[in-house]
Amino acid sequence: MKKLIATLLSITLIASLITGCGNGEKSGSNGDLLELTYFGMKPTTEKTIFTEAEAKTGVSVDFVLSENTTDYAQALALSIASKDMADIIKHSSRADFIKFGMQGALVPLNDLIEKHAPNYKKFLDENPDVKKYTTASDGNIYYIPFVQDGETSTGWFIRQDWLDKLGLPQPKTIEEFYNTMVAFRDNDPNGNGQKDEVPMFGMGAGEGVSSFYGLFNTSNTVMYQEDGKAVYAPMEENFKTAMLTLRKWYEEKLIDGEIFTRKQTREYFIGNDLGGVVHHWFGSTASYTKRFADSVPGLNFVPMAPPAGIDGVQRELERRDKGMNEGWAISSMNKHPEETMKYFDFWWSEEGRRMANFGIEGETYDMVDGKPQLKEIITNNKEKTAVAALNDYGAQLNFGFWQDFSYEEQWADPIAVEGMRMYVENKYVPEKLVKVTYLENEESERTKLNGQLNTYLNEMIQKWILGQEDIESGYDAFIKQLKNLGADELVKIEQAAYDRYLAE
Ligand code: CA
Repeated sequence: MKKLIATLLSITLIASLITGCGNGEKSGSNGDLLELTYFGMKPTTEKTIFTEAEAKTGVSVDFVLSENTTDYAQALALSIASKDMADIIKHSSRADFIKFGMQGALVPLNDLIEKHAPNYKKFLDENPDVKKYTTASDGNIYYIPFVQDGETSTGWFIRQDWLDKLGLPQPKTIEEFYNTMVAFRDNDPNGNGQKDEVPMFGMGAGEGVSSFYGLFNTSNTVMYQEDGKAVYAPMEENFKTAMLTLRKWYEEKLIDGEIFTRKQTREYFIGNDLGGVVHHWFGSTASYTKRFADSVPGLNFVPMAPPAGIDGVQRELERRDKGMNEGWAISSMNKHPEETMKYFDFWWSEEGRRMANFGIEGETYDMVDGKPQLKEIITNNKEKTAVAALNDYGAQLNFGFWQDFSYEEQWADPIAVEGMRMYVENKYVPEKLVKVTYLENEESERTKLNGQLNTYLNEMIQKWILGQEDIESGYDAFIKQLKNLGADELVKIEQAAYDRYLAE
């Protein structure tokens, strides 16, 4: 039965691909334009940044992916296996780009970049981390990535109106933080005469207490230390301290009693005027003050600097990732690799980058004082988010281009923008993100080890925080079990990857 379904699926896929997939033969001239087939989703409007770019690049792209395609990765694998590839391949996996490249399905781009992509070459020279991450172990570059911009994505938020009511400053240290949470619990900041406040709540089911790890400089996975060592954080002393402290806070009812299972935590705790602090995404969390302004009078839920952790350091563990797993590539069936590379390079020019980020001048943005300013149709669209509205025009579709964070600043809540600035300017976020790469055998082994380790780890964290098992007496057995499940092997893989990263 399974086989039959699979066969049927393949036939459907082939049928949907055949209608458009140009296998290189279709590429040719369309008037003065060179037509290149493109394996990627077609934007929904007729006038897009791709049609706008035709006159500037001499290239028109013909989207060949059927709108009905639900399994993109499978459709792509099938087109490669059946040697029916479009000229340009968009995808979202670095591992796949490299795998397909090494199999010969994608053209190595190193020479083409050198000779035909001055904008992208300049970018790579100025961003060696991008070059490092997108180069395969055979030394070839097989794809041009979508590079995310911006430096920070998560941070602390606190009920400033509660602090004001209780006459308290924002907590600066972990001790002050604790005392503030106790005050939130005991002094009725929501003013309803009941002791119903929940000082700290979490990001949602599945996240558990992990959003508070910054206070302890720990994590539930591997961390790369500045001394060049990779460590499995749950086996380090800081993790134990985190567990003991968070258990205490939980027991004292400073943390949401349902932190492991509750969903939509901000709707619940802010909407009902019950929660005091969360560590969460800047962009979305900033919007709650406006959303619940009517139902929670005086609500003022604002970003807060990270309280100094157990080592006295104010830190945000995560830095916004540059992404670089999505992007586009030139298939081996493409008869115009040079022209295609020139076309790719256009999107790294100032004008191309502006279009990729802001869309079409006069339609989605205007130039104001020399800077693109998104129009109301994007920033104040009643039916869709700014990103979705831009996607209709082909902008922000995560093909090979460099995102411009200023596009986000224009639609993001000013509270979020201000908070992110505070985190960056005060250097709470790590200066750079360590982005190691894995060899193919490492990748599969790592996935396996992480899977079994995480299952056990999550189970133990929950038991400990909820008080179902004692942390001190069970700790040695915990470390032993992590080793049984391959924690040391995982560290070995990560150390090798980190060594390569530091050596390159
Ligand atoms: Ca109360």
